[in-house]
Amino acid sequence: MRLSCEVIRDLLPLYYDKICSKESSSLVEEHLAKCPQCADELQKLKMNLKSPIIPDEKINVMKNISERWKRDKRVSFTKGSMLVSALAAAICFITYNVIGVKVLPDGRLVEPFALIPIGYIFVLVFIISLICNLVFLKKRR
Ligand SMILES: [Zn+2]
Repeated sequence: MRLSCEVIRDLLPLYYDKICSKESSSLVEEHLAKCPQCADELQKLKMNLKSPIIPDEKINVMKNISERWKRDKRVSFTKGSMLVSALAAAICFITYNVIGVKVLPDGRLVEPFALIPIGYIFVLVFIISLICNLVFLKKRR
């Protein structure tokens, strides 16, 4: 049975993936032995599948999406850290005031002193997060 080049070229991807029947496969091989154009076509198919040629435009689009995603991730992280540090600082200062300062009968001062520096550390984290967030937002534009 003699098949046209067009039919063989339709079968080439199936032949290359080894998913066509044995009969089709032997017909394709028979044709390839006689037809250099179709053999070339199979070579091109192999080359394209080994190293697919991706146009620069698509690569740039993917790079932009990737960069934007990374920036959004950083902005979200700094927003989250701002929120958590502001909340933690507020809790520290409120707790300090709720517990209060007491002077015992023997003259000792009792206060939850540790809450003050911890609260200021959270304020510092909040300020750093705010600055990072502003920097990332500026880069995004
Ligand atoms: Zn052919």
